[in-house]
Amino acid sequence: RSKDAGGGKHFTYEPALHAHAEERRQLEFSLRRALERNEMLLHYQPVVSADSENVVSFEALLRWNSAEHGSVSPAKFIPLAEDTRLIVPIGEWVLREACREAMNWPSHIKVAVNVSGEQLLDPQFASTVVSALAVTALPAHRLEIEVTESIFLRDATTARNTLEQIMGLGCSIALDDFGTGYSSLGYLRKLRFSTIKVDRSFVQGAAQNNPESLAIIRAVVAMADSLGVTTTAEGVETEKELGVVKSLGCNKIQGFYFGRPMSPADALQLFAVSRAERAGQAA
Ligand code: C2E
Ligand code: MG
Ligand code: MG
Ligand code: MG
Repeated sequence: RSKDAGGGKHFTYEPALHAHAEERRQLEFSLRRALERNEMLLHYQPVVSADSENVVSFEALLRWNSAEHGSVSPAKFIPLAEDTRLIVPIGEWVLREACREAMNWPSHIKVAVNVSGEQLLDPQFASTVVSALAVTALPAHRLEIEVTESIFLRDATTARNTLEQIMGLGCSIALDDFGTGYSSLGYLRKLRFSTIKVDRSFVQGAAQNNPESLAIIRAVVAMADSLGVTTTAEGVETEKELGVVKSLGCNKIQGFYFGRPMSPADALQLFAVSRAERAGQAA
């Protein structure tokens, strides 16, 4: 950049930009070392069936406790990990760790793992999934891969081929944050998603009687039903939101109402509690 670019504005904007770039540089420096320093961990959030309210799966959500920066929000470090492609090795660790943890759960419980475009477009991605399953001995049908619509904007053919390979292994694919991106119905026809996750913004809107949100959830549920795809309502926090998404026909529910993302030990505890409850009922 030339010194006088932007004229007088140069002096007003530069310090802020510089501070931002510097913060990012430091964050990146720490992120490069995060795995080897054991600073990454996964939390697990329950997803329940709308009918029975039983847990059917957990979504693995990445957490970073940095020695230098403390607990860093995924909203901050995931985009940085994507830009620097650090998400490729980090994502490989996530896959393995999530599959390993799921082996401690009852065998009907699935684990869902988020995957970024950078990971999916990496030529090694399918073999990363194969080896995570092989090393942990998790049956492929217990692993669900969550992708967002944005992956189809970049290299739709490669993304689709890789997802088909992974489905060939027996894994399922969920379409995350549905409705927030460049929603196109074309790829719903081309790829057999098992689940569409309706973004929290529509859940909130519907509970506030927002007509557009209600119409969108209705349309997504109708379309999913006719394609044989299940729907998950994301970010359900209140009794009211729960009632609305149930009445609109969403099949599964995820959100703080049923459980926040929790440590692996707390997730395991949920099964201990439900076993105790069943034992209590039987007695
Ligand atoms: P996501 O996949 O859509 O995950 C759901 C996010 O919503 C999580 O945020 C979760 O904590 C939050 N959430 C769940 N229920 C509620 C609720 O009732 N209310 C509210 N307000 N929020 C709720 P989190 O953990 O901060 O993750 C943010 C995003 O970061 C994820 O969105 C996902 O896109 C990305 N991410 C997280 N872990 C990974 C990972 O291992 N790999 C990749 N590539 N991306 C990840
Ligand atoms: Mg997700
Ligand atoms: Mg989501
Ligand atoms: Mg979302």
